[in-house]
Amino acid sequence: MKIIFLGTSHGVQAADRYCQSMLIETEQGSYIIDAGAPVMDCLIRLSYDLKKIKGVFISHLHSDHTDGLLGLISLANWYYKEMKFDVFMPEQGGIDGVGAYLSAVFKNSPNYPNDRIHMHLVEEGVIYENNGMKITAFPTGHMEHYQRPAYGYLLEAEGKRLYISGDLNGARIDYPEFLNEEPVDGFVVECAHFPAEALVEKLRSCKAKFVMPVHVWTLDKYDTIKSHAEELPFGLAYPKDGDCFEI
Ligand SMILES: [Zn+2]
Ligand SMILES: [Zn+2]
Repeated sequence: MKIIFLGTSHGVQAADRYCQSMLIETEQGSYIIDAGAPVMDCLIRLSYDLKKIKGVFISHLHSDHTDGLLGLISLANWYYKEMKFDVFMPEQGGIDGVGAYLSAVFKNSPNYPNDRIHMHLVEEGVIYENNGMKITAFPTGHMEHYQRPAYGYLLEAEGKRLYISGDLNGARIDYPEFLNEEPVDGFVVECAHFPAEALVEKLRSCKAKFVMPVHVWTLDKYDTIKSHAEELPFGLAYPKDGDCFEI
């Protein structure tokens, strides 16, 4: 299982970091986790085989995780007609909003609606099991103050397990407890909503083999995490935009 980091920034982009988006590649298909802008442009620059993409999974409806979605979907509707995939969003308002946008853009056009792109509502539990990939959604309290959902995703394929935290609750760093009990091969964790020292303390009991902080802000948090790397019971990597890791 390969992880290609398309964008690693926190809530806003920077000169060298796009907002959050990851491409997870397996032999049988590829999956986009979060669609920060400009996810489609990133795929085109990679000359990526767009037919491989089977699903797009949005962790929550903050713009740094969604701003690239409309570009991706609208291009898939009218130009890249070899694309066929499912989109999973955590709120019906997001699904309806995308539908309204596409209806306006493609009014009276034969390109939309079509049977290639389907949208689904995310709920807790297994949400996808297809093409050798199983994806399970775990709720986080990132948007609980607005009574809105947010999720992290466990991806299981090719005998590997990858957990992507999504954005977390700043007070609790509430990635799921199973990460302290069952090993995962990779753990991509955000680090914008709490102090880096608090994350390091929490991670001491994490059974992940490899931890990759992303969505890091402020950037001095990298130094804090790196200063503890020797004492932590897992490997650490610090992905930048365009980096690819295999787990
Ligand atoms: Zn975010
Ligand atoms: Zn967020």
